[in-house]
Amino acid sequence: MTDTEAVSAGPLSVSIERPAVYVVATPIGNLGDVSTRAVAILRGVDCVLCEDTRHSRRLLDHYAITTRLIACHEHNERSVAARVVGQLIAEHQAAALISDAGTPLISDPGYAVISEAINHGVPVRSVPGPSAVIAALSICGLPMDRFTFEGFLPAREAARARCLEGLRAEGRTMVFYEAPHRIRATIVAMLAVFGPERQAVIVRELTKQFETAHRGTLAELEALISEDANARRGECVVVVAGAEQSPDMARVDALLSELLGIVDRKTAVRLTTRLTGAARNAVYQRSLELGD
Ligand code: SAM
Repeated sequence: MTDTEAVSAGPLSVSIERPAVYVVATPIGNLGDVSTRAVAILRGVDCVLCEDTRHSRRLLDHYAITTRLIACHEHNERSVAARVVGQLIAEHQAAALISDAGTPLISDPGYAVISEAINHGVPVRSVPGPSAVIAALSICGLPMDRFTFEGFLPAREAARARCLEGLRAEGRTMVFYEAPHRIRATIVAMLAVFGPERQAVIVRELTKQFETAHRGTLAELEALISEDANARRGECVVVVAGAEQSPDMARVDALLSELLGIVDRKTAVRLTTRLTGAARNAVYQRSLELGD
């Protein structure tokens, strides 16, 4: 059974269910980016689970929120999750989950809390807001219709190279999180796998005073961060264009099969090449394999 209580924040009135866990996004730099609903929820719940209580206290103080903070980070997450979810059920309470910045669980702790709540039938509610992955994508200028979020690459060189190798043929735009002290090594590793001509964007200090987006080929970006120490400073997101997709061979086959029954091989190859953008040699080879 869940109860609902109305809490108001300025002109907004929000409902708080009990028991429930609210996953609340907080700013990634600019304190003004916290939503009115997030403030009301943080004020109205019984406790707030956060990575670092001193860090989150500054945010809560800024909005005059006095709710109790409980530390919940990668080293104690499982035990805190079990204890807090048990308490939410037993005492009919609501908790909010926040992280140091942005949306919890996006390269941040929180998975154990959400799993524990779901496993015990406690509703998990979203209070969406900032996340560096979406903010970076929205300004990067690369194709956005499909993307893949890769989070942090492994820190070790060999593991990082293996991970990038697995993405060599990825056709979707790729988003990576990176720490300032590793940005140069990461761009160098990307250059080795994706090639110097691949388009990419390094987005730094999103929503902060020195927000910048450096756009160019991986070779240009590598030169830039090697020369300019400022380009290596601050939190950053790297967005890399996907690989150019080889034409869909299933389409090549379908067209060739159709055309080879109607026109001569030379014409079938010419038309299929033009309609699919596939390499003429590959289409010709395929026409031989398919036969007349
Ligand atoms: N949960 C957060 C989110 O929703 O974006 C991400 C947390 S993850 C531990 C931290 C990484 O996010 C940073 O290393 C950086 O790659 C990226 N990030 C966070 N804030 C950023 C900002 N203001 N500008 C650029 N990147 C940022």
